Amino acid sequence: MLNIDENEESGKPDKTKQFDVVIIGSGPAGYTAGIYTSRAKLKTLIISGTLPGGQLMTTSEVENYPGFPNGIFGPELMMNMRQQSERFGSNIVDDEVIEVNFKKRPFVIITHSETYLADSVIISTGASPRKLGIKAEQHFAGRGVSYCATCDGPFFKGEDIIVVGGGDTALEEAAFLTKFGKTVKLIHRRDSLRASKILQEKAFENPKIQFLWNNVIADIKGDKKVVTVIVKDIKNGKEHSIPAGGLFVAIGHEPNTTIFKDQLTLDDKGYIVLQNNTRTSIDGVFAAGDVHDHRYRQAVTAAGFGCMAALDVEKWLSERQGRVELSINKMEGN
Ligand code: NAP
Repeated sequence: MLNIDENEESGKPDKTKQFDVVIIGSGPAGYTAGIYTSRAKLKTLIISGTLPGGQLMTTSEVENYPGFPNGIFGPELMMNMRQQSERFGSNIVDDEVIEVNFKKRPFVIITHSETYLADSVIISTGASPRKLGIKAEQHFAGRGVSYCATCDGPFFKGEDIIVVGGGDTALEEAAFLTKFGKTVKLIHRRDSLRASKILQEKAFENPKIQFLWNNVIADIKGDKKVVTVIVKDIKNGKEHSIPAGGLFVAIGHEPNTTIFKDQLTLDDKGYIVLQNNTRTSIDGVFAAGDVHDHRYRQAVTAAGFGCMAALDVEKWLSERQGRVELSINKMEGN
């Protein structure tokens, strides 16, 4: 049973835990939404999740976020957004949401340590890159292993680069990385690609991309950074090593939507389906960023979506407020 703390004296629900808007997730979408809603004087709570600041906390320099001509480190950019949101009055808790109930009004949001009520919700829990699942992967993350060519490609100038995956992302990233790498090798676990025909044609025509079929990554070797990647031929089980300074994993993303799957309409891959801009299938619940958008996945597009969701919330709440005022006026005979 959902247990909303009650004020001991009045016996009524504790209003300090009720918000005009609760934002779940704290990447560029969440913090930007918070900047807009708190600046619009909505009582705002951001629940940051397990990685406050989101995916950019694990990248190094961000060179393509507008407004920073000399680039900015991912964690610094996210701390700036957090502070900007707090400056206008956002409350931020570093906690993880474990359950929601969008069937109740106000909405109920339960974290490890607290239960909150919300008149409206913005979901910006993002997506996580799918991992290879080998032991060395985590050790070399940010030290040669990357999940985003657009973010990290320019740091691999003159290096031998490996890209893993056979979808659109892998091919786009491989093509992008040919601008920087000495060599680019695409390694795929099958002998045909999943990517769209047009991207396949472009990749096959690109003399700088080599293909290694029916292979998977078995291990990564190096010291402070990646030096060699061990690949395994899945047809004959044989392993061999390939020198590489960079390993780009492009095997898809998984939206962070597990806790919403019985509450909202998701697509077949688990992404939140939106209708009418940032509205989800539940009136009053909005979504922004990679939790919905599997196409662009950029900090700047996520921030843009966060702004849109905040403006939609503001409008939705004021229309609702208007309706409440109208019905009170009617009851009073005005
Ligand atoms: P995706 O289409 O799901 O492709 C993932 C690729 O990674 C597949 O080739 C898959 O192999 C491989 N893979 C999955 N798990 C693996 C593992 N554990 N080890 C090795 N390989 C593994 O993902 P995506 O390329 O990120 O694309 C996601 C969506 O965005 C797609 O709908 C795509 O069309 C879209 N997108 C579109 C564009 C564009 O239109 N320009 C650009 C980027 C993405 P199998 O093929 O064997 O399953």
